[in-house]
Order: sequence, then C-alpha cells, then structure tokens
Amino acid sequence: MLEQVALGAKKLADYEPIVGSDVTQEILQIAEQVKDARVVHINATAFGGGVAEILVALVPLMRDVGLHAEWQVIEGTDEFFNVTKASHNGLQGMALDFSAEMKEIWKNYNKKNAQLFEGEYDFIVVHDPQPAGLLHFHGREGGKHWIWRCHIDTSHPNPEFWDFYTPYINMHDAGIFTMEQYVGPGVHFDPLAIVPPTIDPLSPKNVDIPLNEAQSVLAGFGIDLQRPLITQVSRFDPWKDPLGVIDAYKMVKAQVPEVQLALVGSMATDDPEGWYFLDKTSRRAGEDHDIYILHNFHGIGAYEVGCFQTASDVLIQKSTREGFGLVVTEALWKGKGVIGGNVGGIPLQVIDGKTGFLVDSIDGCAEKTLELLQNPQLNNEMGQAGREHVRKNYLITRHLRDYLNLFAQLAK
Ligand code: UDP
Repeated sequence: MLEQVALGAKKLADYEPIVGSDVTQEILQIAEQVKDARVVHINATAFGGGVAEILVALVPLMRDVGLHAEWQVIEGTDEFFNVTKASHNGLQGMALDFSAEMKEIWKNYNKKNAQLFEGEYDFIVVHDPQPAGLLHFHGREGGKHWIWRCHIDTSHPNPEFWDFYTPYINMHDAGIFTMEQYVGPGVHFDPLAIVPPTIDPLSPKNVDIPLNEAQSVLAGFGIDLQRPLITQVSRFDPWKDPLGVIDAYKMVKAQVPEVQLALVGSMATDDPEGWYFLDKTSRRAGEDHDIYILHNFHGIGAYEVGCFQTASDVLIQKSTREGFGLVVTEALWKGKGVIGGNVGGIPLQVIDGKTGFLVDSIDGCAEKTLELLQNPQLNNEMGQAGREHVRKNYLITRHLRDYLNLFAQLAK
C-alpha cells in the first residue's frame, strides 16, 4: 500500500461566515451529484510546498460534503527526488540534461509505487510529474477516471523533459492546469480544467492572528520590533530568487539603514536541492546580522509563517518562475500589498498598482519595497483590495467547487 496521509476533520459550514451562503450552497448542490464517490489524491510529499498545503484542507472538505476522499504519497529516496527536482526545473524550462540513467530511476520508482498502489476509486488525481507514471505502470484497474493535476508552469518546457513526460501525462482522462497557457505543446485533454490554486482561510497560517501575538513570535526569532521588516516566505530555490531579494534589500538598506530582512522557508522532503541553495543564500547574506534566514529547523511551522506574514512591514515574492505562488495569496489575505515577480500565476493575484506591485528586476523590487515601506497607508489600501480579491477568487471553497464540477462532468 502507498502511505496514507492522516488528516484532521474540516466542515464546510465553518467557511460560510467568510465566503457567504451562496458559495456553500452551490458546493452542496454539486456534491450531491457525486455523493459517495471514492477519490484518492496522490502526490510526492505530505509536507512542504504548495501541493501539500492544498490537500491538507481540500481532502477533509471533500469528505465533509459526502465523498470518500483520501490522500496518499508515493515512496522515494534522494536518488528519485534528485531526478524529480531536476524534472521540475526542466519542465519549467531550465536548460539541463536528462540522462538515460535519470529516466530509468524515475521509471523504476514509478513502477515500484504502481505495485504498491491498491484499492478501487472513482477518481484518482495524480499531482505533478513525480507520480505521473502510475497509470502507465499500474494499468487502469482500480480507477474509473484518472486525472493529472499540474501545479507547475509548463508553458515553455525544456523539450528533453517534456517529450519524455507527455506520453505518460496524455494517458490520463482529464487534466487540470493552473492557467491555460501552462498546457504545454502536444498535451491534449478533454475535459481540461483550468483551476488556479487556493488557500485555506481557517488554517493555522491563514486564520487571523492578532498583531501583538504575531509580533511576540517574531521577537522570539530575534527580530527588532522597533525597526522595519521585509519578508519573503519560500523554499530555498533558484526560481524563488532569494539572492535577488537580498540584493534588493541591500539597495533599500542604503536608504533606510535600520531595515531588516527575513527569508523564511521550509525544507521540503522532496527537495534535496534546498540545502545547497540555502548555503548559497547564506553566503550572499554574509555577515549582515539584519538578515534572518529561518526554516523549520529553527522552529518555523505554519503558524510562524502566518506570524511573519501578519507582522512584517513589506512582503515580497520575487520569483522568476512561479506556477501560482500560494505565498502571494497568503500574504494578500493578511491584508498586505505584495511585491511580486511579474511571472507565472503572480499577476493573477498582484494587480499592479492595486493589490501590490509587479516587478521585473532587482532595482524595481528595491524601488517598490521602499515605496511601500515609506507609505503605510498605501500598503494598507492595497492590502485590503488584495484581501477582497483573494476572498472572491482564491479560497479553498472555490477549489472544492471546481473539483466537484470536474468529477460531476466525468461521471456523466
Ligand atoms: N511554506 C511554509 N513554510 C515555509 C515556507 C513555505 O509553510 O517555511 C508554505 C507557504 O506558506 C506556501 C507553500 O509552502 O503555502 C509554498 O507554496 P507556493 O505555491 O508559494 O510555492 P511552491 O513551494 O509550491 O513552489
């Protein structure tokens, strides 16, 4: 058997005060059409990164509205996750080699996991490239409808990787992508669902945390509450550009010497590259003690992330590639204007000049950071607009509705 992820309970009714009864009623109506459906989500990790973040809320909510939903994770060791991390980068367009040996490793682990996979399901949702070979190696038995859910930006993939993965991907009955333009060349799905990710407003990270409470948590990490703080929350990953954030911070510091920077990131189990890039980030920070590089080994968990997002003066997500950027959604939900890289799913969320600023360079990032630091009222106005934008479009209830719609469509 594949490992089952243990989950707490969630109730759709608890979301009604946030999203309104129109939204929850609509969900219940659609759920009625797929009542008792057996659903399993399969991905690579139960901890760290956006996919785990979504499933931890989505699966319990699917249960609450009457489906038999589960979440399972595939097995892998560093040799597999090194290949899948390279694949993630290659599929997002990085120039990299994809050797025959790497392909063999990916196939072997998918074969092994396919043997471990058991049970009977109406809907099997396979997330991202790591387990994309399960259907091929397992065969269709056990699943009526196989769905592939892509969370990454595959609009301009490195063909070496894309051509290898497309036959496996195309075997699925339906595809879900974050944006239309992410559906890479040669991939055809009918139905194809365009579903941007969402956040759970009731998770420990996103529930409202009183400012003084959040501040005392930051003080515990050594942050000086009397001085301004810029924060980026993200994995230590080249596409998240923590090095660019440090460079932008240094430019801001030339104008506002008391400014501090926090780079907050968890070390995910499927991301061996993270440690290497963490070292690189620390070297760029050098001996500047106003830069705080913090991760789960320091005691950063979901709640602490929420505290940093609540109590920082400016939140940045300076990615150079970004499938969607849940951290941006989280930051906007905290009522903060966000400075985001003008890439991938970030422009869906950061409406330039309204819910924050989109930037294309280190200079631009420094300039807009300075502007928000020096103009708390503007920051606040943008944050309020951002929170409403998220409420309408990027909360977990919308995600649940979109999945139920796809299931209902497939079931017909
Ligand atoms: N995250 C976290 N702790 C950290 C860093 C990140 O819990 O130290 C979470 C973050 O809050 C967000 C998710 O991991 O919910 C990252 O999702 P995103 O879409 O921004 O990026 P990904 O890591 O999936 O590329």
